Amino acid sequence: MQGKIGLEEHFAIEDTIEDSNGFLDPGIWPELKSRLLDVQGKRIGFMDQYEVEMMILSLNAPAIQAISDTARATEIAIKSNDILAEEVAKNPKRFQALAALPMQDPEAAALELQRCVKDLGFVGALVNGFSELEEENSAVYYDLKQYWPFWKVVEELDVPFYLHPRNPLPIDSRIYDGHPWLMGPTWAFAQETAVHALRLICSGLFDEYPKIQIILGHMGEGIPFNLWRIDNRNGWVKAPPTYPAKRLVADYIQENFHITTSGNFRTQTLIDTLLEVGADRILFSTDYPFEGVEDAALWFDDASISEADRLKIGRTNAQKLFKLD
Ligand code: MN
Repeated sequence: MQGKIGLEEHFAIEDTIEDSNGFLDPGIWPELKSRLLDVQGKRIGFMDQYEVEMMILSLNAPAIQAISDTARATEIAIKSNDILAEEVAKNPKRFQALAALPMQDPEAAALELQRCVKDLGFVGALVNGFSELEEENSAVYYDLKQYWPFWKVVEELDVPFYLHPRNPLPIDSRIYDGHPWLMGPTWAFAQETAVHALRLICSGLFDEYPKIQIILGHMGEGIPFNLWRIDNRNGWVKAPPTYPAKRLVADYIQENFHITTSGNFRTQTLIDTLLEVGADRILFSTDYPFEGVEDAALWFDDASISEADRLKIGRTNAQKLFKLD
């Protein structure tokens, strides 16, 4: 399909590149590293070859979220956003940008998002899960009340917020002890990110700020497949939910979330997601360079869905969500 737009597409700067080392075989690292540091070279070659017209770029993970010194997190976020803005300016028809944010400090994060959207022309934010603070083993999740003024700014700016995975901290990873292959994209990324998304929903955040749009990658991090069970467990008891939010989880997923195909190139999974949230809330993405543009595009272009849905998912949903011209 011509004219595809991808929105979980990563780059790195020298300060954050090492965060992506160690996820793949060491022999792959030199190539992965060069792909992460490249924007205008090999990347455009892949995009041209597989008909990806635009990538909406974001920093690698966990990057800013793993910098426990808040001043340093803010400094690197600003630096990486400035570098990204320069790259986008060189080729705005092929690249747009999502902001990295120092979520350690909700006020600094709101200010940086405002700067990125209003001054730099960014189309949203991408944050890599919970943030670490200076006290050891701290992990802050964004349903906490100190983040609600930040979310107000997100709603006012009317830009989407991509909740991207990271691994849980070692102290929170006991279930994976002795099974390191279950960390990362195999399972831990999805578990960590799905629970974070459900925390946002159940906290009542979207009752307070109903226009916020959260994007989840990897075909929704498992949530679509489990959506009925989340809202209907122990159905015979007819007990209402005990969380602060006013409605069923499925209602929020269908009104406050978008889902991308990043790193999950499977028609069966796409069709389940289509049946749960509809074609208007699913967007093509690759997760380059951790995944190959070729794998994403060759699968998507040929997937057994309607051509009308392919056009929405591959292109027009992104144009609408990010208000691209
Ligand atoms: Mn990713």
